[in-house]
Amino acid sequence: MKYIDLRSDTVTLPTKEMRDSIYHAQVGDDVYGEDPSINRLEKMAADILGKEAAMFVASGTQGNQICVMTHTQPGDEIILEEKCHIITYEVGGIARLAGVQARLLPGKKGVMDPSDIETSIREDDIHQPKTTLICLENTHNRAGGTVIPLDILKDTHEVAKKHNIPIHMDGARIFNAATYLKLPVKEIARYADSVMFCLSKGLCAPVGSIVVGSKDFISKARKFRKMLGGGMRQAGFLAAAGIVALEKMSTRLNEDHDNARLLAQGLSRIPGIVIDMDTVQTNIVICDISGLKMTASEFSAKLHEKGILINGGYTSAVRFVTHYWIKKEDIETTLEAVESI
Ligand SMILES: *Cc1c(COP(=O)(O)O)cnc(C)c1O
Repeated sequence: MKYIDLRSDTVTLPTKEMRDSIYHAQVGDDVYGEDPSINRLEKMAADILGKEAAMFVASGTQGNQICVMTHTQPGDEIILEEKCHIITYEVGGIARLAGVQARLLPGKKGVMDPSDIETSIREDDIHQPKTTLICLENTHNRAGGTVIPLDILKDTHEVAKKHNIPIHMDGARIFNAATYLKLPVKEIARYADSVMFCLSKGLCAPVGSIVVGSKDFISKARKFRKMLGGGMRQAGFLAAAGIVALEKMSTRLNEDHDNARLLAQGLSRIPGIVIDMDTVQTNIVICDISGLKMTASEFSAKLHEKGILINGGYTSAVRFVTHYWIKKEDIETTLEAVESI
């Protein structure tokens, strides 16, 4: 059976062009800096994001953890939004690997208020930890793929500069944010000192993420990547797909956003399903199904029987994610299946 897989954009398989470029990739030992495909991908990523340097990493989680380790010292405090990926899905890495303490702030649609951030920065006091990093997530996964509005991003950046604290952006889906804002991605990245983004989500590459930042930051980060086992030798096979991802896949995400909106509009017309349409900005649709008198896992099991896969791990919330391999017809099929349930 061919499933319509709306669990995540991580399920995207590589395109034919990626498979061909992997086969023909020129490779070398990347730990020696000698992999031409990795070097090309890193140069390309730095240019697109408007930063001095870039580094290929095994996953988004590895990239985020390396950035936190590079920006901080053990015992420092870092500010994060309370439902962010770093806190929820990275196995407590910031505590274990970086040894930092988290200061969690509530977000509105995943976005922290810049003045809340400012009042949470620690004073220079013998009792208090030092605040050494602000982490932002853009788009915000658990808030439903929401984008940080540019004016809030600018204000947050001003607060950070005023207190001389760097910003790390978990931009796993930063290209979705740029598509939504109709801006070149560097116009978002300029407000962060480091950015991590994933090649392996909506951009369809099979493996890998990128970290960008200043030259100094990236050379320090390379050592932490090695420490975490991320020195991957002939990684150019992966970079070859990443190059296609950047060149071909980063400019078509509006199709996924259109499909997500179509899905959300259809779902919101079904009695018992509630969606905050303001959160449907990119490729994620989160809806509340408590009105259907079944749990999220019962709902997703029923969809599974009809050939549709979703993530129903949240209490009464279910999540649908659109991506390259989901076409408009699949949205129609999905809506018919939900209606019949
Ligand atoms: C997916 C994701 C990551 C990292 O994902 P990996 O599965 O480790 O590649 C980081 N941040 C956000 C917001 C994500 O959605």
